[in-house]
Amino acid sequence: DHRLARISSSIRVIPDFPKPGIMFQDITTLLLDHKAFRDTIDIFVERYREKNISIVAGIEARGFIFGPPIALAIGAKFVPMRKPKKLPGEVISEEYALEYGTDKMEMHVGAVQPGDRALVIDDLIATGGTLCAAVRLIERAGAEVVECACVIELPELKGRERLGDRPVFVLVKG
Ligand code: 5GP
Repeated sequence: DHRLARISSSIRVIPDFPKPGIMFQDITTLLLDHKAFRDTIDIFVERYREKNISIVAGIEARGFIFGPPIALAIGAKFVPMRKPKKLPGEVISEEYALEYGTDKMEMHVGAVQPGDRALVIDDLIATGGTLCAAVRLIERAGAEVVECACVIELPELKGRERLGDRPVFVLVKG
């Protein structure tokens, strides 16, 4: 796809953020490139528009940037997958491992229903732990995860393996 080169070069890499040794993939520069941002959304929309997706589940925080325009374009609901204690209603939650310690992800009860077909979206897959927590929440609600989608994959961290047989679609590799 001829659009991928521009998307890839619009992502800035910042060394030693948030700590020494990490090469941080910064998507805020992609958002500043109007064409690259539009192409990113268009590629996802082209892929998912005929797939009967009823839910786009976006992971806080950068899944909240890419998820809503996709949901609107394909006619799906948008469901925020949030950090703990942010959602006001009744929630279900899943713990997941970070490099040091654990975190939690929460989803409103009733937002996802049995029979829903979900696309899970985030900016980046590294170890896959974050996407995996989102997948577990959606599956606990009785819905099917059709695919996980990210702008960037860090293939060395083998995040795909964590997701078993759920497909992962990415635009560029970091
Ligand atoms: P994982 O759970 O797959 O190890 O990490 C993925 C999560 O961490 C995503 O929610 C992603 O936003 C965040 N993340 C980890 N490394 C980076 C990075 O280099 N750039 C960006 N933008 N996000 C990152």
